[in-house]
Amino acid sequence: AAKSLGRNNYQIFEGSAEQSQQQNLALKSGLRHAEHKGELRVFYQPQVDAVTEDIVGMEALVRWEHPELGFIGPGFFIPLAEETGLIVSIGEWVLRTACRHAQEWERRFGLRLRLGVNLSAVQLMQPNLLEIVASALDESGLEASLLEMEVTESISIKAAPNLVENLQGLHRLGCRIAIDDFGTGAASLDYLRKLPADRIKIDQSFVRNIGVDPDDEAIVRATIEMAHRLKRGVVAEGVELEQHMEFLRANQCDELQGFLFCRPLPQPAFEKLLLERQHLLAGVSGTAA
Ligand code: C2E
Ligand code: MG
Ligand code: MG
Ligand code: MG
Repeated sequence: AAKSLGRNNYQIFEGSAEQSQQQNLALKSGLRHAEHKGELRVFYQPQVDAVTEDIVGMEALVRWEHPELGFIGPGFFIPLAEETGLIVSIGEWVLRTACRHAQEWERRFGLRLRLGVNLSAVQLMQPNLLEIVASALDESGLEASLLEMEVTESISIKAAPNLVENLQGLHRLGCRIAIDDFGTGAASLDYLRKLPADRIKIDQSFVRNIGVDPDDEAIVRATIEMAHRLKRGVVAEGVELEQHMEFLRANQCDELQGFLFCRPLPQPAFEKLLLERQHLLAGVSGTAA
């Protein structure tokens, strides 16, 4: 049977455990060359202001365009990249590429959009993380305050000795920090207390249950209020329905991200969206292609 891996499409055939182990090995070795063969892509998903619905930022989401299998989603290959240590160079490539694109949109369209980039635990433990981020900012010319590093809650603060220092260092560089998938880890509140986070991203598993599960609605509402009391911003992920948006807006969520507004898009399509949405087509139509 074909099993779909990740929302952005491709299929991989499910076989015996042995077959899938072999397949993983093959994919790992393919992944090793994906970067220099130019098979990695950064897609962008807009984040909109909950009230005006203006695009105020975007999250960079990596994809692997496999020569035979087509697009492979990060939910599948990021774990392989973490196991092999390849995540360090892939993550650096994503960061540099996304910073360059964001700076280009600022330069060409005059849009100051916030760029969210995911960091894996392995990257957060790298002693040279700050140098890499500083050089990505320097090389692209992107303003540090427009870069928001997304840190997922599944990382244990205790198990990652450099984590807090690295995040404080990122703050000193002027970057922002967001706690991703908030509410799904075992230590959400500990994270909020100990990490220098500017924003919380409410996990889509809660957002999906708006209108379905009153307990999850209560959690969403309480999370927004708590974040605001702590002077942090809140983004909701996985906003798919009008009903989700209405609820989040009524409860003062700051920003929204989800298929209701847009799926993650490749760079050219995202540029087109920016031009259309910001009503800039008339002014810059000569450079729009
Ligand atoms: P994430 O950081 O929580 O990213 C949000 C995920 O939710 C993305 O999946 C996005 O496509 C998906 N999504 C957005 N809106 C909706 C919606 O309305 N409904 C549903 N059902 N899903 C929605 P994606 O792109 O497959 O990425 C999965 C995860 O892979 C990310 O979760 C992140 O943890 C990781 N990831 C992606 N890119 C990178 C990267 O460059 N580096 C690292 N370390 N991890 C990455
Ligand atoms: Mg994220
Ligand atoms: Mg998330
Ligand atoms: Mg996630």
